[in-house]
Amino acid sequence: MSPSAYIDAHAADLVALLQNLVRVPTVNPPGDHYDTITRLLADELAAAGLKTRRFTIPRALMKTHLPPDQHRFPRYNVLGKLAVRGAKKTLHFNAHYDVVPVSGKWKHGSPFSGAVERGWIYGRGTADMKGSHASLLLALRALRATGVAPKTHIEVSFTADEETDSELGAGWLVKHAPIRPDYAIVMEGGEGNGICCGHNGVVWLNVTVHGRAAHGSRPDQGINALEKMAALVSALDAYKKSLAKRTFTAPDGTVKTPTLNIGGVFASGEGGKINTVPALASFSIDRRVLPIETVADAERELRAELGRVAKAIPQCRITVDKVSDNHPSFSPPSDAFFVTMADCVTRVRREKSVFRTSYGFNDMHFFAHHLKIPTLGYGPGGENCHAIDERASVRELVASAKIYAELMTTFAG
Ligand SMILES: [Zn+2]
Repeated sequence: MSPSAYIDAHAADLVALLQNLVRVPTVNPPGDHYDTITRLLADELAAAGLKTRRFTIPRALMKTHLPPDQHRFPRYNVLGKLAVRGAKKTLHFNAHYDVVPVSGKWKHGSPFSGAVERGWIYGRGTADMKGSHASLLLALRALRATGVAPKTHIEVSFTADEETDSELGAGWLVKHAPIRPDYAIVMEGGEGNGICCGHNGVVWLNVTVHGRAAHGSRPDQGINALEKMAALVSALDAYKKSLAKRTFTAPDGTVKTPTLNIGGVFASGEGGKINTVPALASFSIDRRVLPIETVADAERELRAELGRVAKAIPQCRITVDKVSDNHPSFSPPSDAFFVTMADCVTRVRREKSVFRTSYGFNDMHFFAHHLKIPTLGYGPGGENCHAIDERASVRELVASAKIYAELMTTFAG
């Protein structure tokens, strides 16, 4: 029996596996039930024949990276390794196991039901991204059961906290775990016939405008921080237009530009009252960074622009604070790794595959930027990520399992 035939014959196991994973509500924040899910994932990897370890993030690191109310939610990362006789290179598969919080009324009652209906599995995390865990685990089981060896050494990591900042998840993994990958697949970002070869980065800043309070009956005696903020935000229009002229053409021909989203969070200072001149106003900036840019340059340029624009507005005093950033990721799809993956996707799906880059970021940059290895994104995906009635298609889960098995048994590095 071929691994593909095994996967077809065991689609029900894949569904059961995903249901088990979805029923552990690993909601982040705060980082719930990580202990349970990482034990389950480690057991599954071990059962598939991988040498498996679970790493507990040291308390000291938790304390420096997490807000105090999350210190009682321990973080873990799981690593499995399969050494293959004669193999020279190592292929690393990564997926995060945390999910975003839930709200609203779900079709099947609980958001963690794992209910199956007309070829879809419902529940938070089915699409983002526990379906990938299930597909990969079935692929590994298929290789073991059919006695077909991969052509590279295999590493698998299941990591924490992607939905917040990955610092103690994939960020920790690439810095501290005993891994030596030559190639990486982050199992999201690309789906269907689209393989992800890169993603945008991001710079998040918070801008505070400092005014001066006065009685609402004497606005002339104060400096209205809201009015200064409004002027500042309008003045950024010209910068937005100049950014729109900077372009990056993805391998599929899509033309992308850097973007600026202003005021995802905005606030007044304390003590705001209808009869008081506002003394403080603040807003966030979300600057998306193209794969051909760097976050350092983007931040420097943005800060300079904010300074210049504020200076041109009378009595507009601002301070700018960094919230966080994430590197962009890009690997040229001419590498043999990508060529082989494209063939695998085309062969399994019987449709031509394409290379894309994604607008949002995921954990690919930890491998592409930090470890500097060719990194692609591909998984079963699904619908309604981060929304009500998130779901994954059984057909896509099976297809991804076959694609992972196909890649492991054809790509030698
Ligand atoms: Zn995700």
